[in-house]
Amino acid sequence: MNPSELIVRIPLGATSAYVIRGPVPILIDAGMVGQDALLRWQLRRIGVELPDIALIVVTHAHGDHAGCLARLSDMTDAAIACSRETMENLRRGAAAPMKPRTVVGRALLPLMSRFASYPAVDADVAVVETMTLAPFGIDGMLLTTPGHTRGCLSVLVGDQAIVGDLVSGKLARPRTPSAPLLLEDPDAWARSVRLLLDRGARRFHPAHGGPFDADRVAKLL
Ligand SMILES: [Zn+2]
Repeated sequence: MNPSELIVRIPLGATSAYVIRGPVPILIDAGMVGQDALLRWQLRRIGVELPDIALIVVTHAHGDHAGCLARLSDMTDAAIACSRETMENLRRGAAAPMKPRTVVGRALLPLMSRFASYPAVDADVAVVETMTLAPFGIDGMLLTTPGHTRGCLSVLVGDQAIVGDLVSGKLARPRTPSAPLLLEDPDAWARSVRLLLDRGARRFHPAHGGPFDADRVAKLL
């Protein structure tokens, strides 16, 4: 199967989660607090029931990605995988630092502060650099891609990359890629984008806007 056909976007208002539809479904990110019914409804629309999910991957510890995680953890037996930094934040229900990259980012910080906390949850698997998805029947991997936060993680399935907030759509033009408004570590961010390009990512699927072709993302460097 073409890798792009395995990836299904799950729209959750201002953010998107994703499902990798392999032999067992893998969920990437878990929306905002209070979106668990919407998330469950959107999954059902594509024929996925919560108990079917084998793995939940959390790209990073911001409340619009980890908001429903504790609820999902109660409703499924899925393992939760994330970076070590994210695991530590999830345990405390705390957000990774929000460091604005631009004036616009600074202006929007009060709005984003509502993502600063979410119900705490214990993750099961801490990814150090990479983790293969072969045990889930997927020719793909998780990779740590720090930058937006130091604990960010991306998913590479063939030439398709699900990147959380590593790259985001512009506010007024969501189909145009941009570095994220919040950027904890700019140098690490550039290395992470380069890593995904070097690993063969041809299409980037972000949590906000997109998707983006790799040549447009490469121009951000
Ligand atoms: Zn974020």
